[in-house]
This record gives sequence, C-alpha cells and structure tokens, in this order.
Amino acid sequence: MSEQRQVVVLGSGPAGLTAAIYTARANLKPLVLEGEPSSTSDQPGGQLMLTTEIENFPGFVEGIEGPELMARMRDQAKRFGADFHTRKATRVDLSAPPFKIWTGEASGAAPDVVATSLIIATGAQSLMLGVPGENRLLGHGLSTCATCDGFFFREQDVAVVGGGDSAIEEALFLTRFVRSVTIVHRRAELRASKIMQERAFSNEKISFRWNSVVTELLGESKLTGVALHDLSTAEDSILEVSGVFVAIGHAPSTAVFNGQLELRENGYIQTYGGTRTSVEGVFACGDVQDDTYRQAITAAGSGCSAAIDLERWLDVQEHS
Ligand code: NAP
Repeated sequence: MSEQRQVVVLGSGPAGLTAAIYTARANLKPLVLEGEPSSTSDQPGGQLMLTTEIENFPGFVEGIEGPELMARMRDQAKRFGADFHTRKATRVDLSAPPFKIWTGEASGAAPDVVATSLIIATGAQSLMLGVPGENRLLGHGLSTCATCDGFFFREQDVAVVGGGDSAIEEALFLTRFVRSVTIVHRRAELRASKIMQERAFSNEKISFRWNSVVTELLGESKLTGVALHDLSTAEDSILEVSGVFVAIGHAPSTAVFNGQLELRENGYIQTYGGTRTSVEGVFACGDVQDDTYRQAITAAGSGCSAAIDLERWLDVQEHS
C-alpha cells in the first residue's frame, strides 16, 4: 500500500527543512524524504553536514557548526508536525497528479509514496578531486566555498584548484583575506571568461601552477599542503598551503527527474516566477535550481518561497 500525502519534500538541507517548517506550520503535515547516509556526500542534511563552522547565517552571532544548524532546523520542522523518512527517492512519476515516488531499491508497480504536491530540494554537490586525504581534510583546510570559509584563512597561503569562472571568482574573493593564492590548473590556459582572467592576471596576490594536478592532500588533522604533479614535465612537488579551495564545478542532484520535468542545459531544474517547475504542483528550491548563489541562507529563503507557492497552489486547487 502506498503512503498518501498532501505534501512531500525531497531533501533535508536548508531548503528542504525550511519548506518543511513552513508547510508543517500551515498544517499540511509534510513528509520529508531526507535522504540516506549511503556515503559522506549524500547523508541527510545536505552539504552543511560536511561544513564545520558557519559564521554568516544570520542570527548566530558566535557562529554555529553545520550539523548543529541542520539538527535544529530538523527539530523545528518536527515540532510543527513534519514526518521524516530516512530514505531517498530512487524513481518518480510526475506525469500526472498525484505524483508517485519510489524509494530504496523499490522498482515495483506500487509506489512507496503518493503525493498531491511535491517540493524538490535535493541540492547539488561540489565535484571533488577524488585524491587521498580529501575525506579526512574536508572542513579542516579543504573547502568548496570561499564565501563560506575564506575568512578563516586570514594572512595565510592558500590554493584554488580549477580554471573556470568559479575558480577565478573564488581566488579573487580570497585575495581580500589571504596572503597568497596559487591557482592550480590542469592545463596551460584558463577556461574562465577573458574579463575574469584579466582580473586574476593583474592581481599581485595570485600566481599560477599550470599543467598541474593535485595528487594528494597532506596533513593529518589539518591541511598542511598539496602534492602536485606537473603533467608537462612529469615532476612531482609539494605546495605548502593551509587552505585548498576546490572549484571544478557542481552537479545538481537531478538524475531521478530526468525526462520528468524541465531541466536547464546544465542539469539544474528550470523554475518559473519563483519556485514553480514545468509540472504543476511540483516546486523546486535551493541548490537544485540555483547555480548562482549556493548559500545556506539563500537555500533556506527559497525553501520558504516554495512552501508559500505550494500553499497558494493547493488553495486554488481546493477552491476550483
Ligand atoms: P567550469 O566552467 O566547468 O570549470 C571547471 C574547471 O575545473 C575547468 O577549468 C576544468 O578544467 C577544471 N576541472 C574539472 N574537473 C577537474 C578535475 N577533476 N581536476 C582538475 N580540474 C578539473 O565550472 P565553473 O567554473 O564552476 O563554472 C560553471 C558555469 O558557471 C560556467 O558556465 C561559468 O561561466 C559560470 N560561472 C560564472 C561566473 C561569473 O560569471 N562570475 C562565476 C562562476 C561560474 P578544464 O578547463 O581543463 O576543463
């Protein structure tokens, strides 16, 4: 038997949990499919579960640890009646309401959950290098967000990995705090737009290690440097830095929605006029539809918008 719900929220990062708080307070008894802890990168709670201190979430004067912020948001949603299943959607059918959701290995005919309306907040993941030391040092010198963590590296030497606009943007932002930024790029030419390149080339704090790849992140409990391999000379070297920012792109968690609703060319969900998607009754919020801001506070804000958009949509359905 399928579980019937008026509102289902997929995802439990700041967007999903804020949507859950708002829809729960609107007496809609949302069910949150919060994901499954199958690997470090997709445990319930989203990317903030991998973050140490957050100093820019308004209201926390002294800062707060990422996992604690998510635990508080989760408790807040529960307090107003949200239900949580530690499962993730593995298949959906959005062709006609009510929307059908399968979880786990389930591929049977009957969906696990049937929903009148849906909020998608499955987030995005930073692409990682896949080198030794990465899991150990994430949040301990290794970061994927200069806006979030740059402030912790005042007057230190750091590296940025990547050659696209994100890498250059991160490097330029970091120059406000750090002593030096070394951009490590696997080719001898940047992919970033010309204007961003010019800004980087003319910034005295930024230097480049061309044709180089990171082979290992060094340090036990704290990053102390990176091992580099020069692809043109085959030389190995160590770059001593206390911070590394990986900026080699992001991947939205949208595989399960392929062919079910409109995605943009880069795989993010296309939204219209706020959080509406191409399917009526399905709303999207947070990083799964935002490739610009990618902040906890903007994700939370769009989670609130999705809940309000959904409430209004349900209201119209009930009165038409
Ligand atoms: P991107 O343009 O895809 O660039 C990714 C960079 O990472 C590339 O230089 C790539 O190298 C490198 N890379 C990828 N995988 C790697 C690996 N495994 N090891 C080492 N290096 C690797 O991604 P992005 O910079 O995140 O930008 C995404 C989109 O957002 C782009 O369209 C960009 O223009 C846009 N954006 C715009 C702005 C802005 O205008 N201010 C800011 C940020 C992003 P190769 O070059 O060799 O492929």
